[in-house]
Amino acid sequence: MSAYTNFRFETDADGIALATWDMPGRSMNVITMAVMDELERIVQAVAGDAGIKGCVITSGKEAFSGGADLTMLQGLGAEYEKLKATAGEEEAMRFFFDGARRLNLVFRGLETCGKPFAAAIHGLCLGGAFELALSCHHRVLSDDDKTRVGLPEIKVGLFPGGGGTQRVPRLMQTGDALQMLFKGEQIRAPMAKGMGLVHAVTKREDIVETAKAWIRDGGSAVAPWDVPKFKPPSGKVYSPAGMMIWPPANAIYRRETHDNYPAAKAILHSVYEGLQLPMDLALKVESRYFTNILRTKEAQAMIRTLFISMGEINKGARRPKDVPPTKLKKIGIVGAGFMGAGIAYVSADAGMEVVLVDQSLEAAEKGKAHAQKLVTDRVNKGRAKAADRDALLARIHASDAYTDLAECDLVIEAVFEDPKVKAEVIAKVEAVIGEGAIFASNTSTLPISGLAKASARPKDFVGIHFFSPVEKMLLVEIIKGAETGDRAIATALDFVRAIKKTPIVVNDSRGFFANRCVIAYLDEGHRMLAEGVPPAMIENAGKMAGMPVGPLSLNDEVGIDLGLKILKATEAQLGPDAVDPTQKALLTELVENQGRLGRKNRKGFYDYPEGGQKRLWPALKEMQATRLPADAIDVGELKLRFLVVQALEAARTVGEGVITDPREADVGSILGFGFAPFTGGALSYIDFMGPKRFVALARDLEAKHGARFAVPETLSAMAESGGRFYDALKKAA
Ligand code: NAD
Repeated sequence: MSAYTNFRFETDADGIALATWDMPGRSMNVITMAVMDELERIVQAVAGDAGIKGCVITSGKEAFSGGADLTMLQGLGAEYEKLKATAGEEEAMRFFFDGARRLNLVFRGLETCGKPFAAAIHGLCLGGAFELALSCHHRVLSDDDKTRVGLPEIKVGLFPGGGGTQRVPRLMQTGDALQMLFKGEQIRAPMAKGMGLVHAVTKREDIVETAKAWIRDGGSAVAPWDVPKFKPPSGKVYSPAGMMIWPPANAIYRRETHDNYPAAKAILHSVYEGLQLPMDLALKVESRYFTNILRTKEAQAMIRTLFISMGEINKGARRPKDVPPTKLKKIGIVGAGFMGAGIAYVSADAGMEVVLVDQSLEAAEKGKAHAQKLVTDRVNKGRAKAADRDALLARIHASDAYTDLAECDLVIEAVFEDPKVKAEVIAKVEAVIGEGAIFASNTSTLPISGLAKASARPKDFVGIHFFSPVEKMLLVEIIKGAETGDRAIATALDFVRAIKKTPIVVNDSRGFFANRCVIAYLDEGHRMLAEGVPPAMIENAGKMAGMPVGPLSLNDEVGIDLGLKILKATEAQLGPDAVDPTQKALLTELVENQGRLGRKNRKGFYDYPEGGQKRLWPALKEMQATRLPADAIDVGELKLRFLVVQALEAARTVGEGVITDPREADVGSILGFGFAPFTGGALSYIDFMGPKRFVALARDLEAKHGARFAVPETLSAMAESGGRFYDALKKAA
């Protein structure tokens, strides 16, 4: 029987050991307690056997490994609180520190065991797994396009706590190291070699042999930083060169994070302090920061939403169980405009046959030309081959004949946002498609149940709402109309997964989910403008709150005219009290009198000079009836208003039954409109703050700023009973 469960271990005739990481019953290797134990034993076995010269670590799976098991880390915050209550804070801290330290001790043990270790890597090698590779004395990558290395921990609110913050800055210039740690990007093999992260890149089938040859040829078992007189590539921290790096690094950190991400700050500290210490002490410093970060609510929230919930959603948590999987071969798209062309491109890119129909062949061809441009850009950047482009384009059939849709499994309409036009299209499509086919509308504002009235088969009618630009945005809303059946939902979900996007299922309502929340953000920006807040301050407060762009900037991207159109439609439907008169006056002046539509005509809240950088329109200030002095404004309150107003709208969608699963609101809010990711999403923002505190805060804002901050009944009841949005989910589990 093998001595290991998660590794195969064998030694060849030259005395070189091969540890093949291959966890039973899992498609991907992950670092668990058991893996750490076995690695430690492997190191001991290699070090203690005079017949073994060194060891190569590789993977028996398609990828090397995705890193630490985050589900294992997820519960740690709660675990800490429990321990603190029972054994006291000091004991709880010690327990945590020892746990965090474990990985570092195992890897450092490998690095200093006296025998050379080499990593032979194919496929993904991320996070803790790449830190394992960094503690090996030599690294060989396959030249396959699927091979990527990196330390993406920052993306879930963590930081590399397995030596990453110490080994990376000892391999490259400090500025480059900080960038790599802050961005958390996946790095392809040639780039990794160029950065000095790995030593060799070769064909997949040769990686193990290349790594073994390095050991056979006398590869050193001493890491560069353990060689006496080692100097980090950027020299000492306290040196003229160091002083060129650290003050700007601090400023860049502030600019990029607005101090919202404790993990980013911890990276900065860990690198700065660690570079001044020998490796063993430096790793201890790293572990201390890691211990603190594990307990932050930001890490807990981001791991929950961006790793666990997103994984569950992508694996079909919301898919109706009784419907067998659908295999979509041929997709129809009617309307080859801005959205239709994008949908055609992503569908063809995923290998589906696409029939793209518009009113004329010329219009349909224009849509196809858009796909051609997108894929050609990829070819030019070296991200696709010419043959891939030709194959993709061959899959898109542009047409003006509805009869060409006959064989499609799913038809998506993206024609003008006009119920009459849509009704005509629905009838024409249903006249030609087969019985099993599903019809979907990409409408952004028209309720699905209303549109389905034009359908003879409302069970097979569903909303599939894309965001623009389709090829970039990762979220898709699937809208369930009053009569939409399970098969339509399941087909829509299977389609969205096939094009590698993340779907959320929402019930029908005006604006569905994401647009309702994002409109609240844009509105708040308009209101601040009307109150007299300087425009630049509005934009900065939005970004300081954690949003990717300021509300005025975002409004320019969407189109100011669209905002006015929606406002007028709301007024027509719900009466004059439903809209804010100052906002209406502002948008009317901008659109109708000044002709400022947004980025599309280079004139919006910003000016977009040809070839130059955009800048706030100088005359915007003159449109403000009052102008508050900057000193009189509480920026903290502006930030709160931005997040609270969106979170309240998200809570309303829960109260109204539009959102039925908090995971979808959280994932949807981050992927759909960039809701401050450090909060874990719009509902997690409330849950982690504590609903009671949130409700009190919203009531204060309501007293000061009006009814849009009114707390929905369901939320105040939940707060009073001490509940949270995720309680129902926990009970169901
Ligand atoms: P668009 O004006 O760019 O494209 C509409 C296309 O539909 C045009 O090419 C037009 O020729 C075609 N068309 C109109 N009537 C037709 C008919 N009877 N048969 C065949 N083709 C017809 O519009 P768009 O921005 O792509 O929006 C399309 C839909 O997507 C709308 O329902 C819109 O609300 C929705 N949507 C838009 C966005 C966005 O950001 N633009 C985002 C999400 C959803």
